[in-house]
Amino acid sequence: MSVNRIAVVTVLALIAMVVASCAASPTGRSQFITVSDSEVNRMGGQAYQQIKAETPMSTDRRKIDMVQCITEAIVMELDEPHAPEAWEVTLFADDSVNAFALPGGYIGIFEGLLKVAEDQHQLAAVIGHEIAHVTARHAAERVSRHQSTGFAVNVLGGASGSQQTAALLGLGAQVGLLLPFNRTQESEADVLGLDYMARAGFDPNGSVKLWRNMQEASGSGGPPEFMSTHPSGDRRIRDLTNRIPAAMELYREAQAAGRDPGCG
Ligand SMILES: [Zn+2]
Repeated sequence: MSVNRIAVVTVLALIAMVVASCAASPTGRSQFITVSDSEVNRMGGQAYQQIKAETPMSTDRRKIDMVQCITEAIVMELDEPHAPEAWEVTLFADDSVNAFALPGGYIGIFEGLLKVAEDQHQLAAVIGHEIAHVTARHAAERVSRHQSTGFAVNVLGGASGSQQTAALLGLGAQVGLLLPFNRTQESEADVLGLDYMARAGFDPNGSVKLWRNMQEASGSGGPPEFMSTHPSGDRRIRDLTNRIPAAMELYREAQAAGRDPGCG
């Protein structure tokens, strides 16, 4: 390689690093992201199709309507570039207490969650949290980290393309098995999710109740699946409680503007 060529390659590599390190989440946290949104969204869509092909969907019209109503109310309040019509939610006929959201705007709720999330506000807390993982590009961070450490090549060498995609996005071989995000991403999703639900007209106090219910559900019949990726420790509940007053401001503004989703 000529000296000029090396210089060009070096400059391009530096530009790539700067571009990667310039990404920032909606809370202003700087992020290491080396994959394009279109690439990660494509992976999200592919994994979602796979899950939908393998998992029965709920036929409970009342529950489906409730989940759709809450999702629609929340995505209406998202900032650019997240268009409301880009989001899709599916209620799966599965008793797991679990939920997920994939890049591209693909949300999955398992019927079992509705046993722990007792009303629209508590369910909005979970959906807001999951949507925040997408708007804050947490899966792109995971994929970038795995690619930079050679995880995709070394660990997933023997896996098929769709298995690799699913694993990079944090989905296990089985639908119910989701990998946890890191602690920073979890608290960021809590912060953003609380804002989203309040802006949409859901009572932010529902979030604290939801996490308490999760804790209680752990006592009876083993911890819910959601708890394995979302430990509902006292710290999580304390952090959320501290943010309730600010979220209540947004909630009151939403109410004053007539935003009262009434999703049942
Ligand atoms: Zn989470």
